[in-house]
Amino acid sequence: MDCILNQTHFLNTRLADGTVADLTVTGGRFSAIAPAGNAARLGAIDLAGQLVLPAFVEGHIHLDTSFYGDAWRPHIPCTNGFDVRERVVFQMRNLKQAAPMEERARNQLELCVGHGSLAMRSHVMVDAAVGLQHVETILGVREKYRDLIDIQLVAFPQSGILSSPGTAELLDEALKLGCDLIGGLDPASFDRDVKGHLDVVFGLAEKRGVGVDIHLHDGGTLGLFEIEEICARTTALGLQGKVVVSHAYALGDISPDALARAGERIAAAGVAIMTNAPGNHPFPPVAALREAGVTVFAGSDNIRDSWWPYGDGDMLDRANMIGYRSGFYEDWELEVAYDVVSHAGAKALGLEGYGIAIGARADFVVLRAEHVPEAVVAVPKDRTVYRAGTAIARDGAMIG
Ligand SMILES: [Zn+2]
Repeated sequence: MDCILNQTHFLNTRLADGTVADLTVTGGRFSAIAPAGNAARLGAIDLAGQLVLPAFVEGHIHLDTSFYGDAWRPHIPCTNGFDVRERVVFQMRNLKQAAPMEERARNQLELCVGHGSLAMRSHVMVDAAVGLQHVETILGVREKYRDLIDIQLVAFPQSGILSSPGTAELLDEALKLGCDLIGGLDPASFDRDVKGHLDVVFGLAEKRGVGVDIHLHDGGTLGLFEIEEICARTTALGLQGKVVVSHAYALGDISPDALARAGERIAAAGVAIMTNAPGNHPFPPVAALREAGVTVFAGSDNIRDSWWPYGDGDMLDRANMIGYRSGFYEDWELEVAYDVVSHAGAKALGLEGYGIAIGARADFVVLRAEHVPEAVVAVPKDRTVYRAGTAIARDGAMIG
């Protein structure tokens, strides 16, 4: 610490553009960024040329349903290809035998923070069977971790809305309790009523003045039709910049012409697309959508839960996966993969003061890599995570 209260100097930091700079943090925000070369000051932290990146953005996760830290749950395959309804049944069965939700959520949160995510959006299940139990628990966990990570919660109708009578009222209640966004789930294939489902989702968005984040696994022209409906409602309600379609598998299995038209429409509506480059599913073409002006961001989604056994909460690893599955090889493409887990995520979540810039919040990750492309490829695990200029995690573990 310097003689000025709450001020810390970080010397010889390598920034994403390759320049080496000295950073000053005052009161938890960057107050100066100067070319390296300042004389060592008492108490200054010399980062010796390590790469400094803004903390990653975990844009889509499920804090209530992971078994991370709990007993291993072998994956149960669907009986006849991927089926959301059947997976929900497996999930309900598994959750009945799981460790307490708060414990599992905390395990997962610390996993994410340890790898450098300090902003997160978690979907939380709301349905007629669990009521508001999950929401109440996760709201409590969010409160306990508020000094370490910023968390947005989505009231998520995991069992549909029309298929699970009473859910619409519970979703409204969840928003009143403190959820930040209204979720949705496959209006066509799950609820079999696109208009009815979206009427509830956008009705609640309008009533409570919140954003929307819809899980959409429906593929092909059906999924595309739903995306178009979501875009139309977004525009009609003036919700540009506040609506997300998570997964949007359809964008990965339509013709290039249809994709070009869809990209234009999605960009014009200000709807963002979340992908986690999932297993063997088709997924949205990241580069083409970005070129059309669409914000594409990422999340871990499921971590060791009833949907799949993968996930480690490391968004740099996620950038690697997205780059790998997208066929990204050139440096600029690897930088795109990184942008998806950082700046694009911040934009999609509407984060204030994000980045390494004067006035921005000093939430950052320090790691050993020459530059961003190398970080995306090497995914160095030894890193230090700073929250408001204070180290809170090192090499994947929380400090203190
Ligand atoms: Zn999800």
